[in-house]
Amino acid sequence: MKAVRRLFHFAASTILGTLRSKKIITRIHQRQQLQALLKQAIGSQHHAKDTALLRTLLILDIDRFRQVNFSLGYKSGDLLLEEVGNRLRAIHGCGLVIQSGDDEFVLLIHASTQDQLSQAIQSIQHVFATSFIVMGQECFITVSIGMSAVDITLTTIEQALHQADQALLAAKRTGKNKLVTYHSSHAQPFSNQIQMETELRKAILENQLILYYQPRLELSTGNIICLEALVRWNHPEIGLIAPNEFIPLAEESGLILQLGEWVLREACLQKARWLEADILNYQIAVNISPCQFQDESFSDKAIQIIEQTGIDPAFLEFEITESSIMQNMDTTVAVLDKLCNKGISISIDDFGIGYSSLNYLKHFPIHCLKIDRSFVKNIHSNKDDWAITNAIIHLGHALEVQVVAEGVEEWSQLEILKETTCTTIQGYLLSPPVSAIEIEQTFQANNNIPVMIS
Ligand code: C2E
Ligand code: MG
Ligand code: MG
Repeated sequence: MKAVRRLFHFAASTILGTLRSKKIITRIHQRQQLQALLKQAIGSQHHAKDTALLRTLLILDIDRFRQVNFSLGYKSGDLLLEEVGNRLRAIHGCGLVIQSGDDEFVLLIHASTQDQLSQAIQSIQHVFATSFIVMGQECFITVSIGMSAVDITLTTIEQALHQADQALLAAKRTGKNKLVTYHSSHAQPFSNQIQMETELRKAILENQLILYYQPRLELSTGNIICLEALVRWNHPEIGLIAPNEFIPLAEESGLILQLGEWVLREACLQKARWLEADILNYQIAVNISPCQFQDESFSDKAIQIIEQTGIDPAFLEFEITESSIMQNMDTTVAVLDKLCNKGISISIDDFGIGYSSLNYLKHFPIHCLKIDRSFVKNIHSNKDDWAITNAIIHLGHALEVQVVAEGVEEWSQLEILKETTCTTIQGYLLSPPVSAIEIEQTFQANNNIPVMIS
């Protein structure tokens, strides 16, 4: 289970009254406390000849809580957690609700029938379908939930917690905002999040991370104009691990700052090697996590790394998401202006799935909009996706910024994108992300020579 610092008892049961106040306790102690509380809760139900047949343990983790804290402030974050606890406590069938971590809750459900269990689970999910108002501000949050059955004759509390943890990890890995019930296939190479965090820390220091590169193609000329750097973790035993499996953990643990610095430095060093060899004369796009972007020393550190590697900043593009830039408009303008004045280009990644307010486009020095793959995917079969893609392309033209369609896999998608006057594409149709060596072998001969795809 992820770092646990506080143990609040929101309490359903009087026997747990001693833990009603906030306590700061150590991690091992906490785990033991948590187990003791769960044992007591199950035991007391048992002795009370409770008819409950189905006991289910849920670990619920608020998605991107760090960002909630960043954007609303820590006080609002605390109030939000309190409200989450209150709403969960009010659910019929929740035998116990414990805030087991900063943004993590452990719930024990007692139900006599499968229907009752389903109803309790639905009520838990419903808690997050409505907005929260904290200090006058409305916000929606999503949660990832890992769930495990507790059969007191077969499962120990420790096992049930471990299984719910693994199910939670699976929920996070598959894109968050999900409920996953434990299955033996969830047993992971990393037995828990703490082990994964420790290994990731080591991976950054021991150079187990590598960058893959995916080309971006300009349709009017058939030239490659940019390579997007995408990080992978080359684990000595497990092999290559995709970023979606470890970036969320890096963001939650704060390791993203170190990881992000490594990525930027490595991308600059690779660019320097290509410049030296006079090949692959393209811009390099680097993804910047919202947590990195919100770090107050981000722009200074980034500029320092670029200067240390001796790269002309004009060779770099930073890909940021809408959620990054919407958190503090004043700071964002200052940071983006500083980066742009140095010559770095800015693109908005996954455009279209974030904020609906487009006002920010007027205020920020943006060079490129990257249309999220989810719209491009069904552009040939879904008229809404076509309409949104078409609208973004024309918005980009009107704002005089580059528009990239992400995730182009099929010729039919390309045809429609050309008809809708899209200027640039990226996707498996041209190339998946590949290692630096592979990209050299594939595209070196084509340096500035049009690729026949257009
Ligand atoms: P992203 O920045 O939107 O990158 C595009 C993702 O879509 C990449 O996945 C890429 O492999 C995938 N993709 C590209 N073309 C196609 C296609 O035609 N079909 C399909 N199905 N997929 C395609 P990847 O490399 O697994 O990265 C996933 C996400 O992880 C990235 O999304 C980005 O948000 C994050 N990420 C990757 N590298 C870094 C990094 O160095 N730093 C940070 N902060 N985030 C990173
Ligand atoms: Mg990207
Ligand atoms: Mg993207």
